[in-house]
Amino acid sequence: MYFHDEHHIDIVDSGFCSHAEQTVLLLKSYLEQHPSLKTRNLLNTHLHSDHCGGNSALQQQFSLTCFVPEAEFLPVNHWKQDELGFEELGQPCPVFKAQQSLFPGQSINIGNYHFEIHATPGHHAKSILLFEPGLKLLISADVLWEKGFGALFSGITDPFGFQEQRSSLELIKQLSPKIVFPGHGKPFMDVQTSLKNAFSRLDYFEANPHRNSQNVAQVLFKFMLMYEHQITLEQALIWFENTLIITKAAKHLSISSEELMSQTIQSLEKAGVIRKKDTMIVDLF
Ligand SMILES: [Zn+2]
Repeated sequence: MYFHDEHHIDIVDSGFCSHAEQTVLLLKSYLEQHPSLKTRNLLNTHLHSDHCGGNSALQQQFSLTCFVPEAEFLPVNHWKQDELGFEELGQPCPVFKAQQSLFPGQSINIGNYHFEIHATPGHHAKSILLFEPGLKLLISADVLWEKGFGALFSGITDPFGFQEQRSSLELIKQLSPKIVFPGHGKPFMDVQTSLKNAFSRLDYFEANPHRNSQNVAQVLFKFMLMYEHQITLEQALIWFENTLIITKAAKHLSISSEELMSQTIQSLEKAGVIRKKDTMIVDLF
């Protein structure tokens, strides 16, 4: 997302690394159309690789001050993989540096607007959301989408994961936004319906945590296939056995990684989003 005033343009989140070149070109083209603008800040709502994977490329091409949630500032600048979690989720992310922190409870100018910064653990323990109280505009990251929310990894790794997601949704309810710019999908205004659906999805996962573990495996495997396009069954097994969160999900389900792989492939095939062809698994979107 871009926000700008007459002089400066700020960017919120930068997409996944496989689209980094496209992200750079899109910004270049926007700046060519608006020659009075200079790049200023790059803000990350949370450090999942599909939200900060373009940081490195943008920083190489443009003058940008990078802001990350305060709790991520040191881990990013020392690139501590065990704290950043890219490896745990089995996702690549090019190394980047942050120059500033986003402090929950404070606010920040983005373009012409003044946004409040709120902590929203759940989907990501250190995630923040940005709320502009005048317009009642919410940048919700992956805490709330028009239909649902981002995979609840914390439902596997954190005993309070479901509760944290619930309090983050409660916070959104309390802020009562008129329009939401989510981390995925188009902006939406029927926030009541989205919140209702999100709470009901959360209720379901909380009551059936094994379904959450299966969902996490499906989401991450599908995401990996989206950038690998196709892999062999052997490669898939290596991924299932070596991706930390997946091994935790298998343990949580009391099955082997191989069994989780079979179940995941079966469910995704049934949903029509991947296809198994002999010993290959092919992404369909
Ligand atoms: Zn995310």
